[in-house]
Amino acid sequence: MIHALKLFNSLKREKEDFKPIQEGRIGMYVCGPTVYSDVHLGNCRTFVSFDIIYRYLLYAGYKVRYVRNITDVGHLLDDGEDRMSRGARLDQLEPMEVAQRYTVGFHDMMQIFNTKAPSIEPRATGHIIEQIKMVEDILARGYAYEKDGSVYFNTPKFLEDGYPYGELSGRVIDELLNESRDNLKKQDEKNHPSDFALWIKASEDHLMRWPSPWSIGFPGWHLECSAMSTKYLGERFDIHGGGNDLKFPHHENEIAQSMGACGTAPANYWLHTNMLLLNGRKMSKSEGNTISPTELFSGNSQHISKGYSPMSVKFFFLQAHYRSPLDITDDALQAAEKGFKRLMETLKVLDIITLQFNASATEKDKEILNTIRESKSHMDDDFNVPNSLASIFDLISIVNSLKDGHISSQEVSQSCWDTLKEHLKTMIFEVFALKNDVEESSSKSMDGLMQLILELRADVRERKDWTTADKIRESLKDAGIQVKDGKEGTSWSYDI
Ligand code: AMP
Ligand code: ZN
Repeated sequence: MIHALKLFNSLKREKEDFKPIQEGRIGMYVCGPTVYSDVHLGNCRTFVSFDIIYRYLLYAGYKVRYVRNITDVGHLLDDGEDRMSRGARLDQLEPMEVAQRYTVGFHDMMQIFNTKAPSIEPRATGHIIEQIKMVEDILARGYAYEKDGSVYFNTPKFLEDGYPYGELSGRVIDELLNESRDNLKKQDEKNHPSDFALWIKASEDHLMRWPSPWSIGFPGWHLECSAMSTKYLGERFDIHGGGNDLKFPHHENEIAQSMGACGTAPANYWLHTNMLLLNGRKMSKSEGNTISPTELFSGNSQHISKGYSPMSVKFFFLQAHYRSPLDITDDALQAAEKGFKRLMETLKVLDIITLQFNASATEKDKEILNTIRESKSHMDDDFNVPNSLASIFDLISIVNSLKDGHISSQEVSQSCWDTLKEHLKTMIFEVFALKNDVEESSSKSMDGLMQLILELRADVRERKDWTTADKIRESLKDAGIQVKDGKEGTSWSYDI
């Protein structure tokens, strides 16, 4: 049974019943990273949030095409220089080398956070033809004009014709006039200050450039997402997502471009994640207020007292709803780490609990099954992860009470226990996609430690000091570790 969902649609500023365009199928587009520097933790929060949304949609029974792009051209800095070119000049690299390096870094980080790859990950530079075609369509419908090789979107004409420029961000035209500086060097070329660039003629020193009907140049930043979402999901699709800092101008302009090119708004539902803060301020690359994921994992930062494992950090992300801001503090990270360890400890024993459960349904079953239902309905209600986790922790408490004998196993039926076990594993490992990395890292250090001890013992044996060699083996046995000397060498295992 496919779940009925409620989504908070930023366009309407309210929760709505979700109705997909095609029954059982969802097209979802999420703005991806600009690959001109290392991904920061704020970016990670947004992409982890959408990963959990993607995973939950699959769990809820939908077939999902999830498109998340790579922005490797067209994102301008304050002085009008392309972010990719800036990255390239500073590092003395080819722009594509910069893009490649940070794309790989981004993918590595997404893997560390255990996220699924999207169904399609298109690059802006791989879709120049589609972007040029979209500019042509907008020009043909009269919503753009050319000036000296550059093409601009005509916002006054768009508004005059009754299209809703400013609806998503809730801005009125006067605000748009003041705020819409799109960092172009040639602001005065535009007919109107709120107009924005679709195609930009490249200056002599601009590194990334393509031929077009108007000039050798490059696309405006907003165009890529319109062109690529249309190509892979159609003119109208279900969900468009991104961080809420992208509402204006990026998403507002995406809507204008799609409507300008084909008369329809691109997406039915707009989902926006809230910002990760550091010391109460937005974490941002351009403002230098960031902590890198690696600094957080290693503890190498003035903001934290120690390192936190990637999954503890991910668990920390899960403490807030995706639409709420989340402030990084050392205390909050420590609390999250503790909660995560407790969760993992309980999950570890799930499969080794051998209790005699009741053969028939019980009263306690009702409470357990109801809590399981709650944990799902919180997710159906605009992906409320923190509330769902609270229900999961109620279930964890029940497991611990069973384990410790505070609840008799006869109070719970075998079939309810099986459902509970399955549900906990699915939600934690498949939907929230956590894994026990605290355990993993301790098992890695255990491997290292054992290797060292066995090497020392091999030295002792080499010297024919059998007494010491045996003493080491006996002491390890007392510590629950079995050492076996064989033809292939010495091996060890836990003595179960
Ligand atoms: P960028 O690479 O800057 O284009 O950002 C990639 C994604 O990360 C976008 O969806 C941004 O909205 C999002 N993002 C940027 N900064 C933050 C932050 N501090 N917290 C959460 N998401 C962010
Ligand atoms: Zn975008």
